Formats: sequence, C-alpha cells, structure tokens
Amino acid sequence: MKVVVMGAGVIGVTTAYYLARQGAEVTVLDRQLGPGLETSYANAGELSYGMTSPWAAPGIPMKAVKWLFMKRRPLFIWPLISPTMWAWGWQMLRNCNDEAYRVNKSRMVRVSNYSRDVMPDLIAETGIEYDGRAQGTLQLFRTEKQLKGSKADQEILAEYDSPYEVLDPEGCIAVEPALAAVRDKFVGGLRLTADRTGDCRMFTVALAERCAEMGVEFQYGQSIRSIAVENNKVVGVDTEIAGRITGDAYVCALGSFGPKVLNPIGIRLPVYPVKGYSVTLPVTDDAMAPQSTIMDETHKVAVTRLGDRIRVAGTAEIAGYSGRLGPHATDTVRYVISDLFPKGGDVFRAEGWTGLRPMTPDGTPVLGPSRYANLFLNTGHGTLGWTMACGSGRAVADVVLGKKPEISLEGITAERYGV
Ligand SMILES: Cc1cc2nc3c(=O)[nH]c(=O)nc-3n(C[C@H](O)[C@H](O)[C@H](O)COP(=O)(O)OP(=O)(O)OC[C@H]3O[C@@H](n4cnc5c(N)ncnc54)[C@H](O)[C@@H]3O)c2cc1C
Repeated sequence: MKVVVMGAGVIGVTTAYYLARQGAEVTVLDRQLGPGLETSYANAGELSYGMTSPWAAPGIPMKAVKWLFMKRRPLFIWPLISPTMWAWGWQMLRNCNDEAYRVNKSRMVRVSNYSRDVMPDLIAETGIEYDGRAQGTLQLFRTEKQLKGSKADQEILAEYDSPYEVLDPEGCIAVEPALAAVRDKFVGGLRLTADRTGDCRMFTVALAERCAEMGVEFQYGQSIRSIAVENNKVVGVDTEIAGRITGDAYVCALGSFGPKVLNPIGIRLPVYPVKGYSVTLPVTDDAMAPQSTIMDETHKVAVTRLGDRIRVAGTAEIAGYSGRLGPHATDTVRYVISDLFPKGGDVFRAEGWTGLRPMTPDGTPVLGPSRYANLFLNTGHGTLGWTMACGSGRAVADVVLGKKPEISLEGITAERYGV
C-alpha cells in the first residue's frame, strides 16, 4: 500500500515510521527543508504522561482572567476579528466543567499512556538518541495556596494510576539539587515520577533518518495547496512545485495548518493555533542546572534539561497564525530561568523560538478515519504532541493499514465534531 503522509513534524514522522515498519510504501511531504522545523522544533521537551490534562478545566475561566492581568502573564489574547478564533474560544469555555473535563482527560490519557508504553520499543528498535532522561517532572509551588490546590490533581492522578509524590522543600532539593540556592522561593512540589523528557526535534530528525533507511521517501520544500477529492475519496495532494502526488491512502499530520487544507474539503476541525515561546541556553554549571523538568506553577513555565542545554518554555498566546517573535516575547521564560537557576546556564546565549500548538477546544487530538474513505487524521495534539506522538503514530498507522488499533479510538476521532 502506498501512503502519503502530509507533514514531517513529530506526528507525521512517527506515523511514517509505524507505517513503514509494517511494510507500507510511504512518502512524506513537508514545505520545510527538513523534519521537525515548525512546532516540533523547540518545545518544552516534557513527556508529560502524568500531566496529561485538557487546558479546558473547571475554574479555568476565572484563572484566565487573573492571568491576563499578571505582570509576567502566562496568557495573552489578542482581540482579533476572527470568527474562527471566537468560536474556538467559546467551544473551549463550554468544556470547562467537571463532566467534560473527566471525559476529555480520560480520552487524552488513553493516548498518552499508550505512547508511554510503546515509545521504549521504538527507541530500542531504532537506537535513536534524543537527549532523553527518565527522572520525572517536578511541579513547583511558590505558594501554600498552590500546594493545597494540588490536592484535586492528586486525586485524579491516583484515579489514573499515575505515580506521584508530594514533596516538601527538602524533598524538592533532593531531586533537583540546584534549587537549594533558591530555597526561599518555593514551599513544595508535586513530582510525577513516571514522566520523561527529551528533545523532540532531535528525536524527529533521527527517526526521519531511520525512516529514510527503511525506504520512506521524504519530499521537502513541497507546499501543499489542496487535497483533491472525487467520489468520497482522496485522489491526490496538490503541491506547489511537484504538482499532484498520489497514493492509496493519505494521512494529514499538518499540525496547526491542517484546517487550511481540510476545511475546503468539508472537514471543519476546530484546531486552532495557540502560540508559545521557548529559549534554549547552554549549561554553564551542571551542579546549578536542572536535572529534569521543573514546572513553575506560578508562571506556567517548564524548565527542562536536554543534554548540555536547558530549554525553558511557556506562554499561551491567542494571536492567530502569527509567527512573530517580538523583542520581549520571551521575557517571562527568561525571568523564570534566571529566578530559579540563576547560575545554571548562560541566559545571554539563549536562543528564542516561537511555535503554534495545534489545539482542539477539548484538548484531545483527532486520530483515525475521516469522512473520506482513504484519508486519515493525526492532528490537534495541542500542548502534548511530543508526549502523544508514538501512541498516535502507531494507532493511526494501524487504522490506515486496516488493522484494529491497540487502543480504542472511541471519542478521539473527528466524528465527535460531526465533521
Ligand atoms: C512553547 C511550546 C511548548 C511545548 N511543550 C511541549 C511539551 O513539553 N511536551 C509535549 O508533549 N508537547 C509540547 N508542545 C506541543 C508540541 O510541540 C506539538 O503538539 C507538536 O510539536 C505538534 O506536532 P505536529 O507534527 O502535529 O506539528 P508540527 O511539528 O508543526 O508539524 C506539522 C508539519 O506540517 C508542515 N506543514 C504545515 N502546513 C503545510 C503545507 N501547507 N504544506 C506542506 N507542509 C506543511 C509543517 O512544515 C510542519 O513540519 C509544546 C508546544 C509549544 C509551542
């Protein structure tokens, strides 16, 4: 079977891998000149199995109002004249209740836990290096109120069998020794012991190389203009340079840009770009640097150790498809690294980056079949595309090849939006 995968981000490349591994003839198309050059490029690097939750949660609308007025705010909303943006925001608000949260969370955890379980096999099979570590995530609380507020999260973690430990300041320092230097800045933490970390872009590039060795054809610099359909089937993907590329089946893994080619063929997915920022800086003193991921609960910023680098990422900005990296855009993430690990890395050599999270209003990705018999979807991973990549890629590859995926896709397909 010949399969055309649209998109060479972490999602498209893992899908290509699982397809090729089962004997499919795969072509991957991407407008960039290599793999993992858009949202998969410099994310926070967290494999957040324990923190897999939708952003749409009870209490979030009130918190969001507070965040909008903070000095170093984690949320920006630009009042754009965009019906798509406001419709998406409204759908998200409608998911901010107990019942929707529980349903959405359980769907997301299904994909995330599957990813957690299958990723080690992929790493063992391919031997790829990605600056991976398995030392958990430490959610760091600066106030007693945050610590108390985490009780609800603990109950949910217990319900999902996600291992965790509640730590006092000394416990936090035991897992992240460099925090001893800022002992007065936090009151405790919640450590998700099964979480892992790693460089998503490094993984994507290395896996794309393995895929190429397995016979996958990568066509870079191919901007997809549209998907051609006839009689309820896709008959080709029209690109700007190579013209029409054809296959027996097609997978859309275009991240935030999926709707640009799916809307015209009637698949109106509420996937909206939520912008985020990161900086990456070299470690200057290992003893003063983070060892794994620390999530600063106040600023919603993640600080992650990736080999001899530190990645600091956060901010949710609703600003349409703008890829602008303004001069002060990374101020908040820079502040957090200077505040918590002032001697760990060289902030003056920090490289800034921005990316668009492909977010659905319910936080759950869109996997599997579409209304066209030979078109499959693997998109909408929002804040957790790196975490969910292996599970999503494997499940979607199975569906494309006519096999029953190892997890149920009930509630995870495009059907839930009626498109
Ligand atoms: C600041 C930030 C921090 C994050 N931190 C984490 C984290 O710690 N853990 C986690 O799990 N997730 C995290 N994420 C989310 C994660 O990065 C994304 O969910 C994931 O990268 C999405 O992968 P993707 O392959 O769907 O999209 P992308 O990586 O964007 O890939 C889509 C590909 O499609 C291509 N494309 C688009 N349109 C076209 C077209 N018309 N023609 C041809 N090619 C096209 C693009 O070039 C791109 O290569 C973070 C995101 C951000 C922004």
